Amino acid sequence: MAFSATRALGGHEDLRSAQPPYDGGRARIVTRTLDELLAGALAARASDLHFEPDQSAGLVRRRVDGFLAEATRLDLELFGQVVARLKLLSGMDIAERRRPQDGRYCLEVGSRTIDLRVSSMPTMLGERLAVRLLDLRGRVPELEELGMSHDALVAYRRMLEAPSGFIAIVGPTGSGKTTTLYASLRGKSERGMHVASVEDPVEARIPGIAQVQVNARAGLTFASALRGFFRQDCNVMMIGELRDAETSDIAISAALSGHLVLSTLHAGDAAGAVERLSELGVRRTSLAAALTGIVAQRLMRRLCMACRRPSGAEGDELTRHLQLEASTLYEPGGCAACAGTGYDGRVGIFEVVWASPMLCEAIAADASASMMAGHARSQAGSLLTCALERVACGETSLGELRRVVGDPRR
Ligand SMILES: [Zn+2]
Repeated sequence: MAFSATRALGGHEDLRSAQPPYDGGRARIVTRTLDELLAGALAARASDLHFEPDQSAGLVRRRVDGFLAEATRLDLELFGQVVARLKLLSGMDIAERRRPQDGRYCLEVGSRTIDLRVSSMPTMLGERLAVRLLDLRGRVPELEELGMSHDALVAYRRMLEAPSGFIAIVGPTGSGKTTTLYASLRGKSERGMHVASVEDPVEARIPGIAQVQVNARAGLTFASALRGFFRQDCNVMMIGELRDAETSDIAISAALSGHLVLSTLHAGDAAGAVERLSELGVRRTSLAAALTGIVAQRLMRRLCMACRRPSGAEGDELTRHLQLEASTLYEPGGCAACAGTGYDGRVGIFEVVWASPMLCEAIAADASASMMAGHARSQAGSLLTCALERVACGETSLGELRRVVGDPRR
């Protein structure tokens, strides 16, 4: 695989003049080691690569389907040199090892453009790097491919067809929220709309959409970009994440003034999303007037079809409790195809909650979270029912259900 670092974005050093102080043969080994680590990570569909020193070696781990697994161990000298090269390529100050830094650079790999977001953290055992790998030209899936049930998809499409209002996609980090946003925006610009997004980071490029990357150092924030979208005559605005009062306020104002606004939000479910927006200073009455719907989601790992095996869960209390047919249940095996994990890829589970008049009344009346949860029942299935369907058809395991949605007996 051929690699070429195209540019250090936001960097301030000339790459050629700033080679670390070691001889040419050593430099080649360092370059090759890093290239192999990146190639291996991309081949394994890793989302992140971690460089973690300990007393005796430098551990390199990669995150695949949400889980970190060891990729290799390097001797501490080579580890330090690979870390220095990554810092250099991403525009960091390689002499600075006491303060956290962040940087980025792009790699062209065949027809792919990989954006590497690098951050450093000084620890007691040395400098630790985390590298996010974003495949900017990666394919954005269609809504149908995300894993929504038929009913959920019908309900969600209806929300997306609203000319204005606010749609929140909620879930913890790594639950696939951004992918859902991207899939939601596909095709909007072909239908005669001006669609703009503000994100940090931009995770993939979507044709026809004006995507803005937050750049705090240059004063380009979520809030300033949103204000700009007003002047740019936007119909649909996407916000990578609502995490401050000012942005939340502008987002809700935009939704109330004829724009369709979509954003992700850190919350567990629909009731949690309302609470979170209140914490961010959004008035309940404004939210009740603006809200179109809330989608809660999680990602479940798919069993590797090459090595899944019958789970033998007959007589299992949970199986009985969930009224599952034990003969259709499978558990992970572990083979070469799935690197011994028993899982291969992920699928979303969704709870689509339409902002019914009853829910909006409860929001405006400042109802408690438990009352809200009562009104926020999805008409199209809960996260649990969605997860159960996946388990019942052998696509994933009961263990994965417990991990993702908790023990349903509680
Ligand atoms: Zn397997």
